Amino acid sequence: MKILVINAGSSSLKYRLFDMDDASVMTGGVLERIGEASAVWTHTIFIQGNKKKLVRKQEIKNHKIGLYLVAGQIVDPETGVIDDIAQIDAIGHRVVQGGEAFGSAILIDHAVKQAIRDNNPLAPLHNPPNLIGIEVAEELFPGIPNIAIFDTEFHQTMPPKAFLYALPHEYYTQFKIRRYGFHGTSHKYISRQAAKLLGKNIDDVNLITIHLGNGCSICAVEKGKCKDTSMGMTPLAGIMMGTRTGDIDPAIIGYLLKHTHMSIKELDTVLNKKSGLKGICGLNDMRDIHEAAEKGNRKAALAVDMFCYQVKKYIGAYAAVLGNLDAVIFTAGIGENDDIVRAKACENLSFLGIKIDPEKNRLKQSRPFAIHARDSRVQVWVIPANEELQIAKEVMQIVR
Ligand code: AMP
Repeated sequence: MKILVINAGSSSLKYRLFDMDDASVMTGGVLERIGEASAVWTHTIFIQGNKKKLVRKQEIKNHKIGLYLVAGQIVDPETGVIDDIAQIDAIGHRVVQGGEAFGSAILIDHAVKQAIRDNNPLAPLHNPPNLIGIEVAEELFPGIPNIAIFDTEFHQTMPPKAFLYALPHEYYTQFKIRRYGFHGTSHKYISRQAAKLLGKNIDDVNLITIHLGNGCSICAVEKGKCKDTSMGMTPLAGIMMGTRTGDIDPAIIGYLLKHTHMSIKELDTVLNKKSGLKGICGLNDMRDIHEAAEKGNRKAALAVDMFCYQVKKYIGAYAAVLGNLDAVIFTAGIGENDDIVRAKACENLSFLGIKIDPEKNRLKQSRPFAIHARDSRVQVWVIPANEELQIAKEVMQIVR
């Protein structure tokens, strides 16, 4: 079974074609700066363990033209990986905000598209382009089923005590203000991988899953289900991120609006694009921050300290939420590659049964690897993120 996974952003389109007979990637890529004079299209072909990368710069006016180019490339007589688009069995679409309407992946029809549209106010930057991706795919690939997979879906199992904010209750019923959580596909994927690595059934494991990339979120997973998560109504909440604040005292917003000349839009930009690691030290890529810290940049060192401290606080909180913890899992750009962050975030946590082996932690691997010490009661693993594969798996469950 061949499944195409599409992740359409406002000016980008990521895609990956899987052969689900062996869960291998046939081809994939990303179109960036769609709509600008010079878009960048990176396309990778995977053939028997080898990769061939094509990079092109050309004008791509809109998502429809972009997806049309991708379709042509996939069936290209020389560099294509299938003969005919009709060989694609189904298309999976990442949709960021499903609200409370969706607790699982779903075959897209008119009502589903309307429900995605209804959730636009909760994810104004993400849901509209996600929907464009769906409509373009429907138009270009008629007859191939389209399935939506929501970032929020995995977190729908949170109980009200975890997802409600202590605001007047009618704000929840009237305006849908609540914690939704994001990165759900990533947390779901690594929790299922973790259960396999621990040799246990998913219903038998309690995990803390830590996704540290450009965006960062942490999840308490009880018996395979989300019990609490750090991101909130939007992906701005939780731990500090590359450029996002994470949790701050909500009164700061009113204070800044009163005492500066910033508009709400400008303040929104500060909270989303100028805060987090970047706000503290001017840099948002953790590699650059470590380099600066090594050269004596104190703000960079402080940014690392703050980041790790916040991860550690969530580990402590979620260990308390779960009561019984089997494993802590790190994933995504920082989580997979940054041994310093992992070590600092887990420092002095042996009272919770979490103890990292420094040598194992320093290893660099592209497959899952354990980093806990022999006498650590809780296992600690690094598992590479693969949201696209999780999406393809969920699509399969629907179309099979
Ligand atoms: P992601 O959103 O998962 O693609 O992660 C992107 C982030 O991962 C980048 O902004 C970097 O901060 C971080 N990252 C990638 N590689 C490394 C590395 N080798 N060491 C530390 N951080 C890394």
